[in-house]
Amino acid sequence: MEYTDLYINGAWHKTADRFDVINPATEQVIASVASADIADADKALDAAEAAMADWAARTPRARSEVLRKAWELMTARLDEFAHLITLENGKAGADAKGEAAYAAEFFRWFAEEAVRADGMITHAPASGARIMVQHKPAGLAVLITPWNYPAAMGTRKIAPALAAGCGVIIKPASETPLTMLALMPLLEEAGVPPGLVNVLPSRKTGALVDHMLHDPRVRVVSFTGSTGVGRKLLKSAADQVLKPAMELGGNAPVIVFDDTDIDTAIDGTMQAKMRNLGEACTAANRIYVHERIAEDFTKRLTARMATLKVGDGSDPSVDVGPLVNADTRDKVAAFVADAVAKGAKVECGGVTPDGKGYFYPPTVLSNVSETADCVHDEIFGPVAAIQTFTDQDDVIRRANATEYGLVAYVFSGDFKRALQVCERLDYGMVGLNRGLVSDPAAPFGGTKQSGLGREGGHEGMLEFMETQYISASW
Ligand code: NAP
Repeated sequence: MEYTDLYINGAWHKTADRFDVINPATEQVIASVASADIADADKALDAAEAAMADWAARTPRARSEVLRKAWELMTARLDEFAHLITLENGKAGADAKGEAAYAAEFFRWFAEEAVRADGMITHAPASGARIMVQHKPAGLAVLITPWNYPAAMGTRKIAPALAAGCGVIIKPASETPLTMLALMPLLEEAGVPPGLVNVLPSRKTGALVDHMLHDPRVRVVSFTGSTGVGRKLLKSAADQVLKPAMELGGNAPVIVFDDTDIDTAIDGTMQAKMRNLGEACTAANRIYVHERIAEDFTKRLTARMATLKVGDGSDPSVDVGPLVNADTRDKVAAFVADAVAKGAKVECGGVTPDGKGYFYPPTVLSNVSETADCVHDEIFGPVAAIQTFTDQDDVIRRANATEYGLVAYVFSGDFKRALQVCERLDYGMVGLNRGLVSDPAAPFGGTKQSGLGREGGHEGMLEFMETQYISASW
């Protein structure tokens, strides 16, 4: 593996303390990665502060051109990035390539947004003064990313931060630091100046991040990960009143009405469930199917799930790779055991295979009890948990009965009814007759304990900017 050291101020730094990265398909060590400590964090902060002064002063067009170049370079190397994503995360080739393309798109989108930090000028209604509003880079940003999208969760933060004029320090997940490190030479080639983007993998995550969040130069903390860690970071961020962007957990409901086109609903549910083998905050977690079509829907979904090929994601014929680690796999198996103990029927899958690799088969459960653990917590694996409903108000109530509010999916052929249902769902995003909502051009984010702020869209760059208002007379 070529890039395994800390990346600070445009240079690679070795450390005595290192940790292993494992290929989840083979359980083999694929790299030994440097582990940053607090002194390294200070060096990265110094470098980012120095680089940001020049970067923020560049014209929006100049920043935009660098981001555009990053998109071009990454798009030309999708296979390389996809291969690395599969090696460290396990996901199958098509998922990995999809992620690499999605990750690259954030550079293109924010290259376009960099020149659109619109302000405003107007007359104050009473005093007649001019109200002038403009957006300025907020300051240094600490970015913390999860293992499920090693490239995209990073670029979704780096691109808007750079577009806004900020310098950043990224702490990638310890399971999957290699993709983010491999992105750095590409950013250099695109013209990102040394020090503007720094990458600090670490095994002392809590202490390292906490230290950075207490440095007075840091003004933004942007986190994607579990709600539990998000809560801790919000508490740390409170000490310096940092701007928080929190993309946290989900518990996505899928509601399938009996007036839907069933093929559309099956395709959409497959995509919402099996994209990234269920290891996604947007993954379909609870599938509510109208009682009248439940048997047919379950039969067809089972047929699709049972034919997926499970194996090492680097084999191009494989549809479903391993889960990221043994804990995640065992948690998925425990959800299935709990649901079965509470009355669920296993339609397919449901048995952890023997042998190397953290594999779990695509599984369909029907007759899942409302009290099953998988109804209340993120499954984060390839398990489709089906319940039935008859009444619209009742299914909306059940869909909203969670502390999460990231994304919901609705399938219905009656557009008027479908839109009425969408508006009553307390979710930041809704997929209507679609199993995919993620799009760099759209504001991604949740309500309730799924997070704060939005990534992508026009909103994404504003997370890294402060609004300044000047009251002027002339
Ligand atoms: P996680 O355990 O919360 O870890 C995420 C990141 O936080 C990792 O880089 C981790 O570092 C770091 N971290 C852990 N403890 C920390 C602490 N005390 N202080 C600072 N940083 C800390 O989440 P995960 O298991 O990697 O990812 C799965 C979760 O992410 C799921 O809940 C999923 O829903 C959520 N997610 C949300 C979105 C979204 O956009 N809403 C997208 C993707 C994933 P280490 O790896 O070194 O522990």
